[in-house]
Amino acid sequence: MSPTAAGAPIPFVWHPRTRRHVPSAEIWLGVRTPGTEVVERVDVIRDALIRAGHREVTARDPDRRALLAVHSPELLEHLRTIHDAWSVGGYATDPGQDRVVPYVFPTVGMLGGQPLRRAAAPHARAGQFCYDTMTLIGPGTWDAAEAAAGAALTAVDLVAEAAWVDHRGSRGDAPEEAAPGTLRAPVAYALSRPPGHHAAREAFGGSCYLNNAAIAAEALRARGARRVAILDVDAHHGNGTQTIFYGRGDVLYGSVHVDPGAGWFPHFLGFADETGFHGGVGTNVNIPLPPRAGDDRWLAAVEELVGAAAAFHPDALVVSLGVDAAIDDPESPLRVTREGMAATGVLLGSLGLPTVVVQEGGYHLTTLGALVTDALAGIAEGAVRAARR
Ligand SMILES: [Zn+2]
Repeated sequence: MSPTAAGAPIPFVWHPRTRRHVPSAEIWLGVRTPGTEVVERVDVIRDALIRAGHREVTARDPDRRALLAVHSPELLEHLRTIHDAWSVGGYATDPGQDRVVPYVFPTVGMLGGQPLRRAAAPHARAGQFCYDTMTLIGPGTWDAAEAAAGAALTAVDLVAEAAWVDHRGSRGDAPEEAAPGTLRAPVAYALSRPPGHHAAREAFGGSCYLNNAAIAAEALRARGARRVAILDVDAHHGNGTQTIFYGRGDVLYGSVHVDPGAGWFPHFLGFADETGFHGGVGTNVNIPLPPRAGDDRWLAAVEELVGAAAAFHPDALVVSLGVDAAIDDPESPLRVTREGMAATGVLLGSLGLPTVVVQEGGYHLTTLGALVTDALAGIAEGAVRAARR
């Protein structure tokens, strides 16, 4: 399928501030490595979107209330201020680290039941919120994280205005009550960077800071969607998104990903027996795949997720669109082809729901743009087919 086969341009939202996040490295097993979550990712995706004829929209600033719907005020404050504290602390000259990187983590075992105190030293606070050594903070990180969340929220604006034009802001109005002639299933795409699905309510890691997909889901709820499904097709489990909604019956989270039990990030979450708790029992669906799984197993899993989402009867869909399951991607051992990624889009679009697509991972710069545009073309094609049903 060519990128424009569906013939339906999808508005894409981004902001130049997203380029200000320059992690410059990842500390992998104590070794400084170049890292793969680089600025060029947005450039190649944006170029491909423009070439495919999609319409560019500049992201608005996120409102604090939308961020607080997902994250704690303490995490937001930390992300906003820690690099300044790091600079004042002189760590760039002694010991020579200009990026915020943790060295000590207050694990449950360390605390031994005592409450978590706020660490006085910036180099200790760094590990209070960040759970790995891979997710560094530079001078532009907060700016970019805000811009990424703003892109997701702007995509929500576009979808909500098209889907529920007569019901804006009125929680509880069902989309099927929208005036005849309004778009039934609009789609918008947020070119969010840094990605978000590894960020939890009060913890971040995995190259993620704010959970853009969760913020989009809560914003859709605030705009009138009673139930929202989040389907995550990034190669890795979205542990942050799962954790945020694990006890919620109004948001379904479904993910296909490389099996953490086979030794892959996020290692401690993403297993098939994690199905939700309290009011969210049955609204968390994990489908771990073995390393080297290709299109057949991948698409069967996506179809299963789509079935689970349909049975949930959501009013809107958020897609966590990572494309790092692709065969050439350096960050995962899955082997999904470009055709497989397009077919993934068709399956997601076939739900026929107002859909906000949020960029997650995808690190092979040569194919990244095409993978994203193919997936979007698939989603548009699926949505068109669903409208004809
Ligand atoms: Zn990933």
